[in-house]
Amino acid sequence: MIELSPNDACPCESGRILRECCLGAEGDLRPVASVTRCQAPKTGAQTKGCYAAALADCSADLSREHFISRGVLKELSDGGTVRIDGFPWQTDRAIQRLPTAVLGSNILCRRHNIALSTLDAVALRFFRWIDQFHREFDADQHDDRFFLVNGHDIERWMLKTLCGAVFSKNATINPAGSNWVPPMEWVQILFGEAQFPVRCGVYISGNIPDTEFIERGYKFVAFSNGAAGVYGARISMNDETFVLAMSSPPEDLENTFLANHVYRPRGLALTNGCCEKITQFGWDDGLVHRGVRMAYEKSHHAVKPEGVGGS
Ligand SMILES: [Zn+2]
Ligand SMILES: [Zn+2]
Repeated sequence: MIELSPNDACPCESGRILRECCLGAEGDLRPVASVTRCQAPKTGAQTKGCYAAALADCSADLSREHFISRGVLKELSDGGTVRIDGFPWQTDRAIQRLPTAVLGSNILCRRHNIALSTLDAVALRFFRWIDQFHREFDADQHDDRFFLVNGHDIERWMLKTLCGAVFSKNATINPAGSNWVPPMEWVQILFGEAQFPVRCGVYISGNIPDTEFIERGYKFVAFSNGAAGVYGARISMNDETFVLAMSSPPEDLENTFLANHVYRPRGLALTNGCCEKITQFGWDDGLVHRGVRMAYEKSHHAVKPEGVGGS
């Protein structure tokens, strides 16, 4: 049981105290969503090569954007390279160690790139917490931690990653070869002008990875088919799996590949039997949210030591 006082440092890591940050009027925790809207007035410009050009709010110059946040890659990198999987340009789809610098592309104008940078900062914190759990997995200390993050920021970050990976042609899609541009609605969601459609957004798996080792690194798969085009993505961070659905799954997930996944969970609890790291997500959608709890067994799971197979 973790108890917080209004004068504690806010678990969203803003640096402010809780009562001046995410504490709601009824004692609830309400992490505020990041603002991704560009500052008014609109520029009216549509810069060629920016995937948000349809919003007619570009600056004139394209800027180099890491479709996987540079901060996240840096966090996961050892000596400047990161273990990464799921991109077609990787030789025979094996997990590879890549220098973080190769993962940048010119896919957004500077103005749109800057507007989304707050999402990268949120995702970095979230993935750092997960990575911390895995890195401390074998330590016997009881170090319970509680974190707070806005869930809409995490799913918009996932959408940004999907748009960037496909638009820059770094992800395989079906049908191949088309000049894919994100639908207008997706761009509006990214830049705070629209909400995710019903049952779209993030699904988190409650399944423990069925592997001996937790592998530090990043995996990405874009979902697409001939009928629906691009409709989602799976992003794994150290084998914790997050699915972004951009086409509404059925209400009953049982006969879908999302069985055992929870839509927009209230929280994610990771425990190894002696310590627990809990991330609570804030949602402003008026729905009831279930939590996801993943109990790892220390005898079964360990973080893969560097240099053991797989690369
Ligand atoms: Zn806060
Ligand atoms: Zn733009």
